Amino acid sequence: MLVETSAPLPAFDLGPAGEAFRQEVRAFLAGQAAGGSDPASGSQPLVAAMAGRGWFGLGWPAAAGGRDASLAEQVALHEEISYRRAPVTIQLASVMLLGNSILRHGTGAQKAAFLPLIRAGQLRFCLGYSEPEAGSDLASLRTRADRDGDGWVINGQKLWTTGGHLASHVWLAARTDAGAVPKQAGLTVFLIPMDTPGITVRQHRALSGEISCTVFYDDVRVPDAARVGEVNGGWKVITDALASERVLMGGIAASLLRQLDDLLAVVRASPGARVGPRGSARRARLGELAVTLQASRALVAAAIGATAAGQGARLEAPMAGVLGGELAEAFGEAMLDILGPQAALSGDNPGVPGGGAFGYGLRLSVMYVVGGGTNDIQRGLIARGLGLPR
Ligand SMILES: Cc1cc2nc3c(=O)[nH]c(=O)nc-3n(C[C@H](O)[C@H](O)[C@H](O)COP(=O)(O)OP(=O)(O)OC[C@H]3O[C@@H](n4cnc5c(N)ncnc54)[C@H](O)[C@@H]3O)c2cc1C
Repeated sequence: MLVETSAPLPAFDLGPAGEAFRQEVRAFLAGQAAGGSDPASGSQPLVAAMAGRGWFGLGWPAAAGGRDASLAEQVALHEEISYRRAPVTIQLASVMLLGNSILRHGTGAQKAAFLPLIRAGQLRFCLGYSEPEAGSDLASLRTRADRDGDGWVINGQKLWTTGGHLASHVWLAARTDAGAVPKQAGLTVFLIPMDTPGITVRQHRALSGEISCTVFYDDVRVPDAARVGEVNGGWKVITDALASERVLMGGIAASLLRQLDDLLAVVRASPGARVGPRGSARRARLGELAVTLQASRALVAAAIGATAAGQGARLEAPMAGVLGGELAEAFGEAMLDILGPQAALSGDNPGVPGGGAFGYGLRLSVMYVVGGGTNDIQRGLIARGLGLPR
């Protein structure tokens, strides 16, 4: 049916408030000029228009400048932005990854300084968690912050700091107690301007084209006011932020739906040439992708439902993450099979199907099975949630 008719995959209903807001976001995005944006900093007119509507920090309480929006409305916004590929992902990430933690753990001064910047879509941040010897096992990180009078001196090296070359601030996890047992109990989070003396950034281009950085910290002196949360209480701050990151990763289903719709548009134009006759292996592959995507969307919906009901989503969120990551890779491979190798070329080459979006999806898919916790780590969370032996 997907090939022979123009029927889309059935939608998931987020309830009256969520769906009403989805229509509002759709109408808004349809009125925005396409293109001409810088993916790193976002499209400034779009950012300003969204900030004017109070869409960054939508779910925050009114006292913090938010709109007290429901989870369904926040998810509708993320889905529509992902589906339309609107270049405001960094701004939405700053709400989820930093804003929510600052709201919960920040001082009055930090809230006053950073929440308005985040609401305006103007905080350019990067995440300083991973190190050469600390990725999945984040708690073993060794970058140190030592007391120095009223402040701290930071020494160490971070890896994979995405966007570090453009960021104004780094959200940095550092060790403040070398002997802490467990290791988690000796970490503290700092929010530091990237132009602080002693910070050196070296850029690396990832497969998808985005820039991740190795960042060196040599005797970087920061005031105690840069600390977010308690001394040695960083693990709580970090895990709060990572939980949001998993929600963002779960939202990948919306961008995969876009990939499926793009793929179907190309296939429908010449079904015989692209996927062959009914019953062919390629059609079966397309059907499998669509079914798995629908399962992934069902898991995301279940994770949203469980979170909204205050039960957390200990199983559904990592399950959605694992399935989404695997599906992103499966999409990349199926796309090569169905559209041919030229689909992997970038949009700079004339006549590339999908204008390069398929090739980009393939190269980006690696990030979905690694970033924010690898699929193996997510599987460990699922096992723990199921009560399996460690
Ligand atoms: C494109 C990209 C952007 C990124 N951006 C950022 C960023 O902005 N900021 C940041 O701090 N980090 C970032 N990261 C880093 C990312 O969080 C880490 O790569 C990830 O946590 C994995 O750590 P690692 O690379 O050290 O791999 P390792 O932890 O060394 O893992 C190697 C392999 O071992 C497996 N493994 C490890 N431990 C276990 C276990 N307990 N059980 C089962 N299997 C296990 C892993 O699944 C993996 O296959 C980014 C990574 C990528 C690829």
